[in-house]
Amino acid sequence: MLLRMVGLTFYGGVDEIGGNKILLEDGNSRVLLDFGQPFKMGCDFFKGWLSPRKINGLGDYLEFGLLPKLKGVYAKEQLASTSIPYTRPKVDAVFLSHAHFDHVNHIQFLDPEIPVYLGVGTKLFLEAMERTSSSCNYGGHCHKTFRTGDRIKIGNIIVEPIHVDHSIPAAYGFLIHTSRGTIVYTGDLRAHGPRKDLTEEFVKKASESEPAGIICEGTRMVETERRKNYSEDQVQILSERVVSSTEKIVFVTRYSRDMDRFRSFYNVAKNNDRKIVVFPKTAHLLSRLVDDHRLDLPDPLKDENIMVYYKRKKSGGFDERDYYVWEREFMDKMVTHEFIRKNQKKLIMDLDFYQFAELIDIRPDPGCCFIHSMSEPYSEEDLEDKVMHNWLTHFGMKFHQLHASGHMNRDQITSMIKNIKPKEIFPVHTENQPLFGEISSNARKIKRGKKYTL
Ligand SMILES: [Zn+2]
Repeated sequence: MLLRMVGLTFYGGVDEIGGNKILLEDGNSRVLLDFGQPFKMGCDFFKGWLSPRKINGLGDYLEFGLLPKLKGVYAKEQLASTSIPYTRPKVDAVFLSHAHFDHVNHIQFLDPEIPVYLGVGTKLFLEAMERTSSSCNYGGHCHKTFRTGDRIKIGNIIVEPIHVDHSIPAAYGFLIHTSRGTIVYTGDLRAHGPRKDLTEEFVKKASESEPAGIICEGTRMVETERRKNYSEDQVQILSERVVSSTEKIVFVTRYSRDMDRFRSFYNVAKNNDRKIVVFPKTAHLLSRLVDDHRLDLPDPLKDENIMVYYKRKKSGGFDERDYYVWEREFMDKMVTHEFIRKNQKKLIMDLDFYQFAELIDIRPDPGCCFIHSMSEPYSEEDLEDKVMHNWLTHFGMKFHQLHASGHMNRDQITSMIKNIKPKEIFPVHTENQPLFGEISSNARKIKRGKKYTL
């Protein structure tokens, strides 16, 4: 019997964190694994208001080689002002590992005839993001949801999604069964989160499949780690200490899609007889995610521990008509800056950096606390970090850094790979591919756009 050729081509996530775009081919069956946007996308050519023009579709992106020039992948209208002729899709499906934008954002350019396979929770995230952000439009694809245990046949390929723990709910890794054996794709994952059991199950099944290869993320594959290695439990315990030792308001800022972190602060608020105040965007997201019972998140409409903050808009009178339809849903639970100012010691407020101007209305008492529950800045020159600290100093707020990463550290990646024993390693989502060579001599040094056959 003639064995079909299996190929892997990496169009993104190569020597960079994020932007995974992986093409897997088995004979004439072809699937894409993620189609995200890199964090540093186009930063050599675009900055702030100087951004690619929507009207030019893919034109502005292809000008600088920011997306791969592929035929049979992109939507007709996206190609209209480019030199690539439109052809019917040559890709059978896209599989999304999770809803972080560095894994999903560029599906907006794909031909809508290509079906998108995604977790039930991931679909809820994408819908909430499209509803609440004018810049989010994922392109009207047919969505096909999966859960752990499903086996999805795409021509010669069978894809088996298995849940993993990451800093967003509904994250998956995949076992992809091909004519040349199983290929494991980790997506993004961690081994120290509240659902580390999910990752353990994924690693066990990956190991049992005796894989021909692994496509492995390496966000934290670094020579030396200078950041603290907290677990989610530790973040909650340390936040609890901050909150229980003050009579003043506590502000927190976190990644908007990190629902484990939301749950941690929600618990801290509850344990300290405080309410948690969120913006309508978070309330909307929560109200969608409660549809997935397995996520076990509170319903903002029913839960008395959650209050929803409304900013002044247009009339300044908090008139329903001043707000988007999706925002109005929570007006029964509305609190304003005046309420916050009068009830500071009874509250924890979820406050994103881009909403800091609300502090001018709220006027928190000096000496109140601010918990930065995100990654520390990559460089001391980080402008946003400087601006944030200027605001904190201006309002006399005490700064605390408390964060648990969404990714495995170097030791954990090493032990995962040793456990799975793949015949080949393809490192993605990392700036340090050569460090994988220290785990095994079977680690490839992948190049963007080059096809690797198995
Ligand atoms: Zn991620």
